[in-house]
Amino acid sequence: MTTGKQDNHERHQHSLPSADSTFEVSLKRFRNDSLVRTLLESLAEGVVIIDRSRTIVLANAQAEKMFGYESNELIGKPHVVLVPEHFRTRHQEHEAGYFNEPKIRPMGLNLELSGARKDGTEFPVEISLSFIHSVDGLLVMAFISDISVRKRAEEGMKAANAELARSNKELDLFASVVSHDLQEPLKTITSYTELLALKYRERLDQQADIYMKFMLESTEHMKVMITDLLTYSRLGTRAKPFGPVLMGGVVDLALESLTQSLQEAGAEIEREELPEVAGDQMQLLQLIQNLIGNAIKFRKKETPVRIRISAQRQGNDWLFGVHDNGIGIAPRFSIEIFDVFRRLHTRQEYQGSGIGLAICRKVVERHGGRIWVESAPGEGSSFFFSLPAIGAYDGTR
Ligand code: ADP
Repeated sequence: MTTGKQDNHERHQHSLPSADSTFEVSLKRFRNDSLVRTLLESLAEGVVIIDRSRTIVLANAQAEKMFGYESNELIGKPHVVLVPEHFRTRHQEHEAGYFNEPKIRPMGLNLELSGARKDGTEFPVEISLSFIHSVDGLLVMAFISDISVRKRAEEGMKAANAELARSNKELDLFASVVSHDLQEPLKTITSYTELLALKYRERLDQQADIYMKFMLESTEHMKVMITDLLTYSRLGTRAKPFGPVLMGGVVDLALESLTQSLQEAGAEIEREELPEVAGDQMQLLQLIQNLIGNAIKFRKKETPVRIRISAQRQGNDWLFGVHDNGIGIAPRFSIEIFDVFRRLHTRQEYQGSGIGLAICRKVVERHGGRIWVESAPGEGSSFFFSLPAIGAYDGTR
């Protein structure tokens, strides 16, 4: 074997694949051995091999096609012909490092790499490098993928997401303005209806009293719906930046605000140790309040309410659960109950406007999480939601 001194040194340090007596790696072998050649040509990636002088010594057909060259045209050329002009200086800086520390690695990690075709056009690439100690010295093997299609799809996805965020924001703004502006005429209708009832109740006939009662109930209902819609739309328009939030503290605040109904229901609360998450404290409070509030509201008559709050780490997220022993929900409604104004009961049975869970879903989704329910009629309900763990938060939401 004719491996140089320096190559030998690198080989021992980095235990790279090496030439040995049973399989002598040489350029000749790469070029002429039919098995090696078949393997190279069968790869989906373009393969380019260069030597220490940065000269291309071999390229498979995929690489030639990708860069727009004829068969064997690349051999003998400096490898920088494959690198766009504006990227060459930076590339050469990186390259010295690759040769000094020859190990299998992706090239230009976190960089957007481009290849240059023969006609000068550019295309995005992903490259991984491998080093071979051959009898002809250290060789660098670059596996190159043309990622134009993937990049285009990613850009399309990014544009669609930005458009979705924009139109959601616009919708929130619209709902916020409309619900705000509707409050004024509604106030007028409500006060005149009240005045009418005050002055003329029991002075017209019995039917008129019933009409007045309906009108008052309906204006009250509409007021609640408009206020709820305003709250819902403001989750998007008045959102605060995320910070560290202690979920134990959030649950304390929620329980405090629900003290009266908790006492009335004789509720028993059990909670696990709750972690810190990255989020918007006010919105997380709304989330917890709505879930505990529902657990109290949809309780079984005659059964003392028991609520359990759980938390469990799952990868980069925390998975929380609010479990109750209430009336439960038929699985066929488990998705639609999170829609705006969707209710499964009349207001006579249970108070509410049907926006609580829609708020919960919007809050959780704004935090990059997911919310769902697992339940059966008469069996209690478990609402689960995920939130980003504090260390996993990348500051972009
Ligand atoms: P609201 O409480 O005003 O009805 P929500 O959006 O909070 O509105 O809930 C929607 C529906 O989901 C409720 O009407 C109820 O039927 C069902 N639901 C929510 N939470 C529970 C629960 N803990 N147990 C049983 N049903 C529930």
